Amino acid sequence: MKKVHIKSYGCQMNVYDSQRMGDLLGPLGYEAVAGPEDADLIILNTCHIREKAAEKVYSELGKLRQLKHERAKQGGGETVIAVAGCVAQAEGEEIVRREKAVDLVFGPQTYHRLPDLLKARAVTGRAVVETEFPAEDKFAHLAKAAPKRGVTAFLTVQEGCDKFCSFCVVPYTRGAEFSRPVAQIEAEARALVAAGVREITLLGQNVNAYHGLGADGEVSSLAGLITYLSRIDGIERLRFTTSHPRDMSDDLIEAHAENPKLMPYLHLPIQAGSDRVLKEMNRGHRAEDYLKLIARIREARPDIALSGDFIVGFPGETEADFEETLAVTRAVRYAGAFSFKYSPRPGTPAADRADQVPEEVKADRLARLQALLGTQQKDFNQACLGREMPVLLEKPGRHPGQLIGRSPYLQGVYLDARGHAIGDMVNVTIDRVGSNALSAHIHP
Ligand code: SAM
Ligand code: SF4
Repeated sequence: MKKVHIKSYGCQMNVYDSQRMGDLLGPLGYEAVAGPEDADLIILNTCHIREKAAEKVYSELGKLRQLKHERAKQGGGETVIAVAGCVAQAEGEEIVRREKAVDLVFGPQTYHRLPDLLKARAVTGRAVVETEFPAEDKFAHLAKAAPKRGVTAFLTVQEGCDKFCSFCVVPYTRGAEFSRPVAQIEAEARALVAAGVREITLLGQNVNAYHGLGADGEVSSLAGLITYLSRIDGIERLRFTTSHPRDMSDDLIEAHAENPKLMPYLHLPIQAGSDRVLKEMNRGHRAEDYLKLIARIREARPDIALSGDFIVGFPGETEADFEETLAVTRAVRYAGAFSFKYSPRPGTPAADRADQVPEEVKADRLARLQALLGTQQKDFNQACLGREMPVLLEKPGRHPGQLIGRSPYLQGVYLDARGHAIGDMVNVTIDRVGSNALSAHIHP
């Protein structure tokens, strides 16, 4: 067996892509290993969304170059180094120009060609760069059967983005919006279930803009897809991420009220609370629209856990603008959220603006927002104390008999699960709330 080490950076879609690359390599005789040390193939599946992402990749590649030379010197054989993902898409040829140790460069839309790329590299002995957006359907070329994934799994149903928020690279690195057909998704979901998966998270850069070809030949919405998948025996729970407020349709809100398999958790980024900033971000809605939407969602599913993304220090953001972000946050009461300092991304409109916010102002705003979000997360968890809820047992804990499960609200739950197995759904009462997780006992 040859060994492959895949290191995934960034979003859940990259995690999914890394798994699919692993699925492709299995039949070629590769087994996955946790570290790069004696791997024959090392793949960095990169992210370009923030910070000096490309620089970090080059510094990692410098270390891998040394490893490659050392291994060859000691007679360990050739180490093929591949750069995949959004940095590969954005940088392309530049990567092999700057780092000679790199053998393969391919983007998020071309990784299904990995077996051919490896062959081309072996035949020519030269680096191969593949970053065009291909005409064929990537998913149709991926391995059909899903190997073991555990109890929960990601399933990409939608890719790319046509929204062009002024701060974001996704439309450039992942390309135009595309939805997979329902039948193709169903086949993958069934394979996951056959491999033991009980909870599936449907992924997309704008997952609620999903509009794939339905089983009946009509276009299906995300709500339609969820209804369809929830009829599959063995799927106990469905989730989806990430959603855009503009695509939060009535049927999707209704699904939260009516479909017991759809979990009460929604990741719905607002990014900023000031209408002027939202407009300059090209988000296409006002803060008030978002708050009204949240009210409707809570009416449909009162216990829903809400999460979001925030950017502080977008160009031109004033203290008054930022306070509106705090105000929206207070009004929503999030169960958890991700917040970031604005990071200028080359090639995006906001990066060229002259009114960039100083670093220390961004850092100060981020700390204040995160303090508020942290308190809200604690409050949400604390409110679960004494509550009964179903927990899906996911993995072993550190103590004998202990398993770690997942609540409907995506919290980790520790419990003594003697007599139960991973994959079981158990009813519990939450009896302790820690800073990161909950503890519970199973109902007799
Ligand atoms: N499509 C989703 C949406 O519109 O809400 C978000 C997808 S994006 C990959 C994930 C998050 O990264 C965004 O919600 C945003 O908060 C953050 N992000 C994107 N570009 C950024 C930038 N230039 N600087 C800081 N954060 C950024
Ligand atoms: Fe990026 Fe905006 Fe598209 Fe989300 S909606 S992926 S933030 S461009």
